[in-house]
Amino acid sequence: MTLLPQKGRPWSELKAELDAAKADDFSWRQGRMALYFYFLDDEVTRVAQEAYLTYWTENAMGQRAFPSMKRLEGEVISMALALHHAPKEATATFTSGGSESIFLALKTARDWARETKGVERPNIVIPRTGHPTFDRAAQHLGVEVRRVPTSRNDFRADPREMAKRIDGRTIMLLGSAPNYPFGVFDPIREIAALAQQHGLWMHVDACVGGFLAPFVRKLGREIPDFDFAVPGVTSISADLHKYAYTAKGASMMMLRDAALLKWQTFNFSDWERGAYVNSTAQGTRPGGAVAAAWAVMNFLGEEGYVHWAGVLMDTVDRMAAGIAAIPGLEVLEPHELCIFVYRSNDPALDIGAVAEGLTQRGWFVGRQAEPPGIHLHLNPAHSIAVDDYLSDLRDAVTEVRKTGARALEASGRTY
Ligand SMILES: *Cc1c(COP(=O)(O)O)cnc(C)c1O
Repeated sequence: MTLLPQKGRPWSELKAELDAAKADDFSWRQGRMALYFYFLDDEVTRVAQEAYLTYWTENAMGQRAFPSMKRLEGEVISMALALHHAPKEATATFTSGGSESIFLALKTARDWARETKGVERPNIVIPRTGHPTFDRAAQHLGVEVRRVPTSRNDFRADPREMAKRIDGRTIMLLGSAPNYPFGVFDPIREIAALAQQHGLWMHVDACVGGFLAPFVRKLGREIPDFDFAVPGVTSISADLHKYAYTAKGASMMMLRDAALLKWQTFNFSDWERGAYVNSTAQGTRPGGAVAAAWAVMNFLGEEGYVHWAGVLMDTVDRMAAGIAAIPGLEVLEPHELCIFVYRSNDPALDIGAVAEGLTQRGWFVGRQAEPPGIHLHLNPAHSIAVDDYLSDLRDAVTEVRKTGARALEASGRTY
């Protein structure tokens, strides 16, 4: 059992211990991890780190005390809204991550539906591919979640099936841009039209795609409409700490109409200190996360983001083509951005055993449960790892074919 030490120890010693502690972790720097990290290069990382340290002490909640925080946050919000074709009535909240953005979307929709339409015991209708964080938020908020299987074989949400689950207590529909399990965009236009037809809140979960898709589109690649350009989209979650490459603890919860913020805002005064009012699920917030987002966005600019989007998409293309060329493996199509899944199409080749073979070769593998497969969530840092990955994958496949190995663990864990 570790107890607080009686006496402090020198930083040099602690720093060495921290550095050594990482030795057994998977090396994200060599691109050997299929999720969890977003890395461009040392220069961008330094910008984020130095900006974070510049605002190390500031509390982003204290905007009266730190007017500069309010200005920087306002500029990040403004850039994010413009990237998502927001109308001038729109607003956004800087949150700690996708989970908080989605929590706030659900809470705001719930309170809006209760007050304007008298809906009690509400439910939301979402594609089964929706992120688990919707269920976590719904558990906290007393909302029922109706997950609708994506019966179409392109892994996209099926608006016709979703429509069948809507009833008088439904408050929200969801579309992902793209969804996490397969990396495809749901048909946002169709779902938003369905939401409008029933007077429902439409949330787009662009946690992955929000700060990537606009730049991939600039490369000339086809990206379906998914943002406020689509009529009926009420709110969007988009993570800065994913493909905007900012410091962790940064996401946007965007609202088409600032009038809706009323149901997102916590407004309290029944204690001795008077009014306490804010629109996040947090109190104290790290000023560093705001400053880092501001700095990285201004450092890269549109040109930088488009450049890195190109590096990423080339990496995806090379990886997918290399995998598809290995006999017995099949890349699930379509996939549209930075995520895809591959599986075995040969009963003699157990994909779980292949995953375990990759793990033995030093790769951190994301296993897909349904259908059994391997999930890749790529970022530009993987560009240096493609050849090594493919070579190890070929070796793992050869080995599994030779030994006829089956996976020791049935499916692995998502996270
Ligand atoms: C990452 C992610 C979330 C959750 O975001 P966190 O930042 O991990 O809280 C939600 N939806 C999608 C599609 C995601 O990829």
